[in-house]
Amino acid sequence: MDKTVILASPRGFCAGVRHAVEIAEAVLRQLPPPLYALNELVHNRQVVELFTRRGVCFVRSIDEVPPGATVLFSAHGVPPAVRAAAAARGIRAIDATCPFVVKVHHEVRRFAAEGLAIALIGHRGHDEVVGVAGEAPGQVTVIESAGEAEAFQPREARGVAVVTQTTLSAAETERVLAVLRRRFPALRTTAADDICYATTNRQQAVQALAARTPLVLVLGGRHSSNTLRLAEVARAAGADARLVSACDELPADRLDAVTEVGLTAGASTPEAFIETVLAALAARGFARRETLETVRETIHFPLPRELAGA
Ligand code: SF4
Repeated sequence: MDKTVILASPRGFCAGVRHAVEIAEAVLRQLPPPLYALNELVHNRQVVELFTRRGVCFVRSIDEVPPGATVLFSAHGVPPAVRAAAAARGIRAIDATCPFVVKVHHEVRRFAAEGLAIALIGHRGHDEVVGVAGEAPGQVTVIESAGEAEAFQPREARGVAVVTQTTLSAAETERVLAVLRRRFPALRTTAADDICYATTNRQQAVQALAARTPLVLVLGGRHSSNTLRLAEVARAAGADARLVSACDELPADRLDAVTEVGLTAGASTPEAFIETVLAALAARGFARRETLETVRETIHFPLPRELAGA
């Protein structure tokens, strides 16, 4: 008898990642090579390899981009100092920062202008956090955990504000926020949550999946924040969640022992990789597919005007 794959919906590419990929494709159509990209366009090896094959040169520092060249800023954004360095060297910058990340940059600038100390809940060293913190380096403190929130000593300031990385676990973020609210009763927050719609929707979908099936495959990059959070959320909901970043990482023993398996994918995981894994699962007897939909997504960001005709 055929075994079943239950697909979480939504899963895979979010609007911000699709936007970054569409911008990169438009630039490749419009401009002659080489095109440089600062940091990974999105945190997924398959996507980076695809664009590398198409002639994109990925670099980790703006200093590696020659004057006069074109550089793409990734979906995670960059600090203002990097934009300034690019402009100073005559580098044409094309910005693929996700609009939800841009919103957090605006919030930090607004709080910084008010003289507030800013707690940025997120993962130190993540590209998005580096970019956001760079808006006000003297005023932003990155906080990774409830313990760090307890130890946080804001420098002399008119008050304390908080913003968050867009791809965090909602439950873990709430624990850190609770500490900050207790310690700073006048804590300023943003009007709406910084955790983006795609992160929230994928976490809710994987929670529903974990309630339905004890084994859940989470497809995506090992350094993709939202992918790692999906696996954590599935485990917290009681499932045996396995991160799969390549087909040879499928847990053969576990798959042989079950008749159905749940599957989701991080926001930077391309559909082509999901299909490859589904084909590998079908070859192992998981030929039936079911979808468990928790919400339907409709968000789409248009191309920047300068590229819209490409
Ligand atoms: S996960 Fe959210 S913030 Fe990150 S690129 Fe996607 S939509 Fe934007």
